[in-house]
Amino acid sequence: MSRIMNGRVFRPIEWLIGRFSTDMGIDLGTANTLVCVQDEGIILSEPSVVAVKKGTNEVLLDGAAVGLQAKEMLGKTPGNIVAIRPLKNGVIADFEITEKMLRYFIRKVHNRTFLVRPRIVISIPSGITAVEKRAVINSAERAGARQVFLVLEPIAAGIGAGLPIAEPTASMIVDIGGGTTEVAVISLFGIVTSESIRVAGDEMDEAIIDYLKKNHNLLVGEQTAELIKMRVGSAFPLREETKMEIAGRDMQRNLPRRASITSEEVREALAPPVRKIIDAIKHCLEHTPPELSADLVHNGITLAGGGALLRGLGRAIEEEIELPVRVAEDPLTCVARGTGEFLNQLELYSKVLETSDEN
Ligand code: ADP
Ligand code: MG
Repeated sequence: MSRIMNGRVFRPIEWLIGRFSTDMGIDLGTANTLVCVQDEGIILSEPSVVAVKKGTNEVLLDGAAVGLQAKEMLGKTPGNIVAIRPLKNGVIADFEITEKMLRYFIRKVHNRTFLVRPRIVISIPSGITAVEKRAVINSAERAGARQVFLVLEPIAAGIGAGLPIAEPTASMIVDIGGGTTEVAVISLFGIVTSESIRVAGDEMDEAIIDYLKKNHNLLVGEQTAELIKMRVGSAFPLREETKMEIAGRDMQRNLPRRASITSEEVREALAPPVRKIIDAIKHCLEHTPPELSADLVHNGITLAGGGALLRGLGRAIEEEIELPVRVAEDPLTCVARGTGEFLNQLELYSKVLETSDEN
């Protein structure tokens, strides 16, 4: 039985099912996984990190094994435990662990309404292979999804950033995550040209580690490097330059020691990855058809993802590319909010989604 309501077909049974299930949108990021549910918004945001027993895929049993607490273990685990980032390089480096992580997050959210299995929209990097897509769908199904939809990250980011992606006008979105930077020109729900590079937040952290080794004879871990990037990192000269007190291991004496690093130094360290991101944007623009390039003069470039929070990044891009650049509101949650928008409008968007039903 169905009837038309507001131009849409109304099916009472599905409506009823919908009332009892928590449909969710998931941003499966290389650094962070976010879950968004209808009416409530983002209800989970945790690092994409899993703690396993060394040499196995066995996830540690308690809640400390996934997410926030697991991230705190990175680089600090005792010998028999390792904290793994299963998506580190923008692809699924470890299927089994990714699946366990996904299942953990879905269960955590879905616990409250265990009666009906949810529909799940998952955003995936545009570089993902068919096999990896299948793996994501299977994992979500095994974790209890009734139906799975996949959406490309740049599209979800564009929607989350409020870009007019449904219109016949081009917008450029640059999503700078942990493992990858995805540059895409989108128009009419589709990706016109795109460029994906494995240079993003992680590589910035590594650049800081290398810089400290070479210039301060100091060894620091990834967590410290990330903190330095967030506190005093920049891509363009700051109005007031600052510095930060840090600690690590001296490379000659092999003993712990303090040091101080200035924001100018961090900017110098970050210059190579920033350069690569700007080059990827240029490259993508060079392959954009002229009519759409014309739109970009007006619509400009929108930055999303955690990397968009690097101070002065928008300005550095603007100086070089001479297009208006803006940072999306709350860039870390753009993709997740985009998947949430898909949930609200599944009928409208279903044509651009890949679904588990097709297979
Ligand atoms: P992903 O989508 O790959 O999970 P995110 O969009 O969650 O990635 O972004 C995570 C990245 O953003 C990390 O590399 C993190 O260090 C970086 N990041 C977060 N906040 C800042 C900040 N204030 N300045 C610079 N980088 C940041
Ligand atoms: Mg992301």
